[in-house]
Amino acid sequence: MTNAREWIGKDFYRELGVSSDASPDEVKKAYRKLARENHPDANPGNAGAEQKFKAVSEAYGVLSDQEKRKEYDETRRLFGSGRPGGFGFPGGGGTGTGGVDFGDIFNQTSTASGGLGGLGDMLGNLFGRRGGGTTATRGQRGADVETDVRIDFTEAVKGATLPLRLSSPGACGTCGGNGAKPGTSPRTCPNCAGSGLVSRSQGAFAFSEPCRDCRGRGTIVDDPCPECGGEGISNRTRTLTVRIPAGVDDNQRIRLAGQGEPGRGGAATGDLYVRVHVNPHPVFGRSGNDLTITVPVEFSELVLGTTLTVPTLDAKVSLKVAPGTASGRVLRVRGKGITKRDGTQGDLLVTLQVVIPAKVDGKAKAALEKYAESVAKHDPRPEITALLRDRGA
Ligand SMILES: [Zn+2]
Ligand SMILES: [Zn+2]
Repeated sequence: MTNAREWIGKDFYRELGVSSDASPDEVKKAYRKLARENHPDANPGNAGAEQKFKAVSEAYGVLSDQEKRKEYDETRRLFGSGRPGGFGFPGGGGTGTGGVDFGDIFNQTSTASGGLGGLGDMLGNLFGRRGGGTTATRGQRGADVETDVRIDFTEAVKGATLPLRLSSPGACGTCGGNGAKPGTSPRTCPNCAGSGLVSRSQGAFAFSEPCRDCRGRGTIVDDPCPECGGEGISNRTRTLTVRIPAGVDDNQRIRLAGQGEPGRGGAATGDLYVRVHVNPHPVFGRSGNDLTITVPVEFSELVLGTTLTVPTLDAKVSLKVAPGTASGRVLRVRGKGITKRDGTQGDLLVTLQVVIPAKVDGKAKAALEKYAESVAKHDPRPEITALLRDRGA
């Protein structure tokens, strides 16, 4: 039982979303999927995903090792042995306090088996009101919430940290979410002994269903909190700090795990999705990780060649244009685009576009007429001329 101390309060099966009799293959599959979904590279700036990624890795570390898994199962069995129907390790979203008194259970267990004393002190704080354990169907997961933010083009490119004010249901501030009037606490439901589930037999089968007395919560509130009426949830205005990762796209959603509505009956909290709207820039555009800019040029600049000064997002670069460069040509300035947190870097794409003056006069007009005269013998569109000639024949 060397690892028992670390394992208390953790439900590795629930973390991976598998049943406690899952095969090694099922465990591996579940882990791979979750690790991929929550990998920090795929969720830049998302602390919730990072946390889940760590939790999933830890769970897999134990459940993939047959020796450790046996030891872990033993820990669960031992801690659950004091109460029929088993008990739940609190999951990630559990918020409540009170409820089942595991300190007592543990003390009984440790007296019976001996040698594990001392841990009982920790347990009182560790276990929340969740009771379903491996059945994991108890309560109702909190709803996901979506909100919008508007940021400037430059903030989207460089990343930004913004305060976000949200008015949404949250754990009630008056009772801390347990639904009981301040000064009182919920009591363990006597019907289900706090598990939130009761067994019902039908023929040869036994079913578990949510306890009707406590509506699956495992606890009963005698004196409801005046603020939330015993639901443990009330509308609150919260201010969150949201980190927008560099390179975020217009209309992209950022997921903040566990920042949505709280679950009912001790179930997991929903997620918050922040939809990012990016104000356009007067000069720059975007194409993936590349910044784009269109630079108007004179016809003569392209014909004779020139050196242009082109703005980058926060500085400028000199760009040589070779004589005889075509209009519409795109020049690439390496590394001056968007730098993402994973190190990938885009370029600045400069499109050269000839502007035609609406009117020329004086010296410019005279020179241009002279120019036209001197190229009169040159046909700039030989294919079209040829096609027209064939048709005319
Ligand atoms: Zn309340
Ligand atoms: Zn009950």
